[in-house]
Amino acid sequence: MTAREIIQKKRDGKTLTESEIVFFIHAYLRGEIADYQMSALLMAIYFQGMSFDETVTLTRIMRDSGEVLDFSHLSGSKVDKHSTGGVGDKVSLILAPLVAAAGIHVPMISGRGLGHTGGTLDKLESIPGFQTRLPLSRFKKQVEEIGACLIGQSEKICPADRRIYALRDATATVQSIPLICGSILSKKLAEGLDALALNVKVGNGAIFEDSATAEELAEHLIRTAAAFNLNTVALLTDMSQPLGVAVGNWLEVCEAIEILKGGGPEDTKQVTLALGAIMLQLAGKTKDLRSGMTRLRALLENGAAWQKFLEIVRAQEGDVKFLENPDQYPAPKHRFEVKASEAGFVAAINAREIGRLCMLLGAGRQAVDEAIDYTAGMLIHKKIGDPVHPGEPLVTLQNSGQSPDNDFQEMTRACFSIRRQPATPPKLLQKLFDVHGVHTITEIG
Ligand code: URA
Repeated sequence: MTAREIIQKKRDGKTLTESEIVFFIHAYLRGEIADYQMSALLMAIYFQGMSFDETVTLTRIMRDSGEVLDFSHLSGSKVDKHSTGGVGDKVSLILAPLVAAAGIHVPMISGRGLGHTGGTLDKLESIPGFQTRLPLSRFKKQVEEIGACLIGQSEKICPADRRIYALRDATATVQSIPLICGSILSKKLAEGLDALALNVKVGNGAIFEDSATAEELAEHLIRTAAAFNLNTVALLTDMSQPLGVAVGNWLEVCEAIEILKGGGPEDTKQVTLALGAIMLQLAGKTKDLRSGMTRLRALLENGAAWQKFLEIVRAQEGDVKFLENPDQYPAPKHRFEVKASEAGFVAAINAREIGRLCMLLGAGRQAVDEAIDYTAGMLIHKKIGDPVHPGEPLVTLQNSGQSPDNDFQEMTRACFSIRRQPATPPKLLQKLFDVHGVHTITEIG
């Protein structure tokens, strides 16, 4: 078999055999198949999809491309969370220490920014000194001793996802259900987990804007995880506006700090507490989601989660002085307020465009090797349903690279639709998916 024959087979809508998928991924990792051929296969999968069996095979081969960790010697549950990605989604930064403070082991392998969405690794690396590339022996030790460690895919763990993830970003092949399942679940299965909470986002800032496709993704993730006996629950949450108020790496760390200290925006807190409660329930540590949320809220309020965050950052060589005194962080060179020009209510926000504009400000990469401006991003002052008066700030833009010009500020203003009639904020926590089906959320929120 040749790479060309396999690409052609998928291009023509046929089902690949296990040995064809194995051959392609292994040869790619050995450098015998070029990026352009992998890109062609990814595009063929994007258009033709994959059967369930193909998706399971892809996931398994990607998982087995590196080491698969074993934490079975640890007493207590190993549970992680992964999000399909959104704008202003800093939940992992808060959730890992919070849930570790509740006694769960969280071995978290995260990703970098993908398309218009930010990545947990980039946010963590905005903390001076923070290391996301640790030897696996150190990763394991930290999970055992501190309860949580956050690293990225590497040559040792999930190298297939590391290479393919970057290629999908550059070839517009992110929005493919089998490729997302393979990417997310290969990382999570390599962590040696007992259970997994997934956060599938829906709305204009998510990978999939429409509910039908986002729900299809949630169902596929649950079914694929079940094929590996990984107990998984997916929470569908709104992403039709940025989560919280901060978008951009260091700004998001600052919002995470506020929440870890018991304050912060309510929507980010709700999503974090709901996912945390799901993790507690998966670990058998709470009878229902409502009491799980109450317990976690107490860990935010009594400082336990904040102390655990400092412990994790210290262990990963981050300089906690900037977390304790965010004012000491290098200030952005430019800061502008974008103000409303009309009166009314915010009816909609183009979160995808906000994410794209933040990337242009310097908060994300347009090429794999581009440097990030950690000070770049936006503070969102108005959310859907809020009243607005002319001259009131909608957004504060900031960065340290090229100063955003008038056109840029205009594009930012255009992300907000202001209408005369009052608007209702979208439902944040929408549905739960597990192996038994879909559940509406009535008991939390
Ligand atoms: N997050 C991942 O890790 N992979 C994807 O494909 C999408 C979101």
